[in-house]
Amino acid sequence: MAGPLFGKVLIANRGEIALRVQRACRELGIGTVAVHSTADSEAMHVRLADESVCVGPPAARDSYLNMAAILTAASVTGADAIHPGYGFLSENAAFAEMVEAHGLTFIGPSSDHIRMMGDKITARTAMAGLGVPLVPGSPGALPDLEAARAIAAQIGYPVLIKATAGGGGRGMKVAHGEDGLEEAWRVARTEARAAFGNDEVYLEKYLDRPRHIELQVMADTHGHVVHFGERDCSLQRRHQKLLEEAGSPVLTPAERDAIGATATAALARLGYRNAGTLEFLYQDGQFAFIEMNTRLQVEHPVTEMVCDVDLVREQIRIAAGQELGYTQADIAFSGHAIECRVNAEDPETFSPTPGRVTAFHAPGGLGVRVDSALYAGYVVPPYYDSLVAKLIVHAPTRPEAIARLRRALDEFAVLGIKTTLPLHQRIIEQPEFQAGDYTIHWLEQFVERAFPKQ
Ligand code: ADP
Repeated sequence: MAGPLFGKVLIANRGEIALRVQRACRELGIGTVAVHSTADSEAMHVRLADESVCVGPPAARDSYLNMAAILTAASVTGADAIHPGYGFLSENAAFAEMVEAHGLTFIGPSSDHIRMMGDKITARTAMAGLGVPLVPGSPGALPDLEAARAIAAQIGYPVLIKATAGGGGRGMKVAHGEDGLEEAWRVARTEARAAFGNDEVYLEKYLDRPRHIELQVMADTHGHVVHFGERDCSLQRRHQKLLEEAGSPVLTPAERDAIGATATAALARLGYRNAGTLEFLYQDGQFAFIEMNTRLQVEHPVTEMVCDVDLVREQIRIAAGQELGYTQADIAFSGHAIECRVNAEDPETFSPTPGRVTAFHAPGGLGVRVDSALYAGYVVPPYYDSLVAKLIVHAPTRPEAIARLRRALDEFAVLGIKTTLPLHQRIIEQPEFQAGDYTIHWLEQFVERAFPKQ
């Protein structure tokens, strides 16, 4: 390589993902700028960065979502580019626009594509037009309850009322029959208004036993698009992923190739650039698109392990204008990878457990990766997402990956606060998990059986 791709990258995030991006920058010889709230001045992402700037008080809206403060931090430190990580400003089209307007590079897609995919209806319309199969549903936003009733009668119950601006599993309600439609309509809109300030909703057929299978794509600015295969993220609670696998235990290589060809052709026609994930529900051998995430995902490491690729490095290279330099035929899939999300939450009630970590020991050894910003003595603040670590294992086969995961979970010690580690230990012993025989509804039912509410 001639020289560094950028002199300095500002990472507009915190926690494990801020460290993840820093690591890629450092290996590329790029300087790093951390931003942090006053609650995070002792955080690992601040300690390990070359430079850091405090951008505001603890509340995310005043710090990690404070666009003016972050742009000012980039300007005073002389950063050339901003990597948004996931969450926070990563899917904020106005922020991407502002970054570019300030003469900096936004490490991600264009603001037009972020905007298009951020609205689930325009995303559905665009994908349908590009030949990607959708979950049956309303063609656009629902003007009123009557319209919802008419479409539900047409496609058949159960149906799901979903927020156009939805994310994080919020603003989504099932109606099992016409009786429940009015309530689902009301609750979904109320939730959407509170969470996103936008109560526009649409309707989809509610699939009763799908898997969540998503496809990692990467596109450069020279018209090349590749995919790095699928991730199976069917283990969810309240529509939030808890454990992810690459590849899916149920997908054949031919099915992967087929959906991969459809998705990459669609994104090439769209002129998409940088990383993206197309999320599908998969049932009875059929894929149905639900949404596209225009950013790096929490679960990207399982893909990195099976494809032997650094996705953040690829994002940075593409943002600097480099070509991918390889084709789909060069991408090989090797072995099986599993990721457990370790949350600072009670493993039975799921209530957040911020507080001081008194001891921390991460597992290691062959095929084990831990992405975390925890350390002994660190105080997990109560203000942010509860994800505190990701444990990723990689092995030649799925049974070997499960054996490795069991061993790594046994080694993993986070003392002082409760975490979801014991929940993962129980999940991986279930016969359904071991057989790879689960849908998006399985985990919720397992949790109800395992921890009945008193
Ligand atoms: P969000 O943006 O809030 O994450 P998604 O549209 O990605 O919303 O859906 C999140 C999860 O909700 C999916 O992974 C799936 O488990 C469930 N889900 C979404 N749409 C449907 C549907 N039509 N039928 C059944 N489950 C669904």
